[in-house]
Amino acid sequence: MEGSRIRASFDLDASGKHRGYLTVPWSRDDSAWGSIQMPITVVRNGRGPRLLLLAGNHGDEYEGPIALMKLAAALEAEAVRGVVTILPTMNHPAVLAARRTSPIDGGNMNRVFPGARGGSPTAMIAHFVYHQLVARADVVVDLHSGGKTLDFVPSVILHELDDPLLMQRTIEAGLAFGAPLALVIRELDTEGMLDVAVEALGKLFVTTELGGGGSTTPARVAIAERGVRNLLRHLGVIDGAPEAPDPPSRLMQTPAGGFVVCRTAGMFEPQVELGARVEKGAPLGQVHFFEDREQEPHCYAAPCAGMLYARHFPGLIKRGDCLAVIAAKKAAAP
Ligand code: CA
Repeated sequence: MEGSRIRASFDLDASGKHRGYLTVPWSRDDSAWGSIQMPITVVRNGRGPRLLLLAGNHGDEYEGPIALMKLAAALEAEAVRGVVTILPTMNHPAVLAARRTSPIDGGNMNRVFPGARGGSPTAMIAHFVYHQLVARADVVVDLHSGGKTLDFVPSVILHELDDPLLMQRTIEAGLAFGAPLALVIRELDTEGMLDVAVEALGKLFVTTELGGGGSTTPARVAIAERGVRNLLRHLGVIDGAPEAPDPPSRLMQTPAGGFVVCRTAGMFEPQVELGARVEKGAPLGQVHFFEDREQEPHCYAAPCAGMLYARHFPGLIKRGDCLAVIAAKKAAAP
């Protein structure tokens, strides 16, 4: 296990329940010997699966951190077989600033893995997570949402993997989570992602998109809380069978061409509710050119039939923004 400059306030390998802080050294103008202090909880009891539960990878996403803070408070060692490590605000400076990326170094946590021991705070935290926490885990769960700029139908995200056995285990775990959707995707740009760093080690990895818009709702927090507990049950870390959602989780995928990228800057008018069924060519939304009264709005149509899975959230939009994502029923494996 590679050493880190980050220190935990307790022994990460001790039995029982321990709640404390990770101290990230950060000397700066307003605090010469200062540090960043991030809450961490480890619950360990005998032999069993070792789970690492993460949220706050991006600092403007709320379902994951809320669900994990509540679990960290509630989970007792006697109820656990194995280890549950909980880090609810992984990019803590970004969470403090309610921003996707760190205000200290601009770091996008999910583009810097496996991190750097002597790097800036974002890279230093990623290095600790990879070399100290992922190294101690068999299963890694990283809870995401859409943040301020995207909104999603609450979903588990599973990656297309070349290893068929790991793929099968991943789909089973994803369905056990019990979100309305389980979406199988192939990532477009994997450089520096925690996801691929964990999967390259052959470990089970589950992530989510549980909502977005820079806030949350009671229903979405409930999906996150039930999902995490369902995973603990599915993996045998706590007793009981996963609670099945009603209606059951739908296994879907994003078809080629299902991403709609905006080509115009203006005011965004969504024309379809999130989760609604759309036919190919149906209007998804239009962009109004509010500075030019003579220009007609630009309409964006569904590139294929399916469900409106994600959409741009803020009122203004610009060229290059993700405007919408369509999901379709998962095709059977060839
Ligand atoms: Ca995210």
